[in-house]
Amino acid sequence: MKKRFCHFCGAGEKEVEFLIAGLHADICNGCIDQAQGIMAKELGEDPKPLPALSLKSPIDIKEHLDEYIIGQTKAKKVLSVAVYNHYKRLMQKIKDDVVVEKSNIVMVGETGTGKTLLAKTLAKVLQVPFCIADATVITEAGYVGEDVETILTRLLQSADYNVAAAERGIVYVDEMDKIARKSDNPSITRDVSGEGVQQAMLKLLEGTIVNVPPQGGRKHPEQKMVAINTENILFICGGAFDGVSKIIAKRLNTKPLGFVNDKDKGAELDEENLLQYVTSQDLKSFGLIPELIGRLPIVAHLNPLDREALRAILTQPKNALVKQYQRLFEMEGIELSFTESALEYIVDKAMEFKLGARGLRSICESIMLDTMFDISIQKANGVKEIIVDENFAHRHFEISGEAFRLKAA
Ligand code: ADP
Repeated sequence: MKKRFCHFCGAGEKEVEFLIAGLHADICNGCIDQAQGIMAKELGEDPKPLPALSLKSPIDIKEHLDEYIIGQTKAKKVLSVAVYNHYKRLMQKIKDDVVVEKSNIVMVGETGTGKTLLAKTLAKVLQVPFCIADATVITEAGYVGEDVETILTRLLQSADYNVAAAERGIVYVDEMDKIARKSDNPSITRDVSGEGVQQAMLKLLEGTIVNVPPQGGRKHPEQKMVAINTENILFICGGAFDGVSKIIAKRLNTKPLGFVNDKDKGAELDEENLLQYVTSQDLKSFGLIPELIGRLPIVAHLNPLDREALRAILTQPKNALVKQYQRLFEMEGIELSFTESALEYIVDKAMEFKLGARGLRSICESIMLDTMFDISIQKANGVKEIIVDENFAHRHFEISGEAFRLKAA
């Protein structure tokens, strides 16, 4: 029997709660919900009531993350617990002086190791609005660039303009390291992209009411604003923090011997991956201001991806690259498969060009380009099966010029 999928978003039958069949097309529950939201907005109706939070245990959250993300066990654990506690905090009934405070998170790891993917997958698991913001495009008010409030505009849009839903969403702030000030010493001169932006971010992270232009853009007096309280929005910041390893090394090597406790004595320092020892103190030395670090109490690190991880990323995650290509071809009635040696070849190239997981996609894309371009001819010729072997991969990768392009980069 032919596999069924949603003709609106492309999700397969198994990925959604249910599919409703039409004459020539099917639609999933997610798309029905979205369509309802659009209709309500068009008709000026009240937004839908806030759905109940689906609180999952840290173990369940990690299990979900495992389906999409390879490795990074420690980061997954840290995030699962942090997110669980965050949403428990939202449900707390204040009866005495004990109030659980918000714990935003900072993730440190090389580019392409899965920071964005982790944050995105978390939001999906929890079914809360999510948006990605880039810290480098934000400047202090009055300078060319985006106001820090535009981050919330995006979150509001992702919540379908439901303010209450946006107020408990997750924001992933990428490239956090790029707004670090250049040295540990506070600068006397103004620093448009560094400290000033950190101050602006601090406001958001702390929890305040921010007036947000719902359509984005810079604020101007005539614009209608929407007030958003950031108190319950979870901010996950990420960055490669290039050079932080040196700071960590320095800190570890200069630790006075007398202070090494017994537990540490026997432990061997893994000098290849110093990132795993990262602390808030290192981020301060890197150039994040202490106030901001105070609002990012949870520090998680991501490990660099080795060969084995890259190989697994190609096929194992629920949304693995190979599965995505297979879906594209399946929609044309063609069965696509990759031989083990072809997959190894792709990993070899990603390692050779030091591209990490991000490179897997561009390598696959260049291998598959001609075949995807010719798809109508293949179909007309009655092709039912395509096998990508090492020879095929090698030929297409070299022909496409991608190898030369990457070498030059
Ligand atoms: P980062 O935010 O750390 O720069 P991303 O999360 O954007 O990296 O990762 C880029 C791409 O690489 C993702 O879309 C994903 O396909 C893949 N990827 C990276 N790390 C992993 C991982 N640990 N498991 C599965 N896929 C990964």
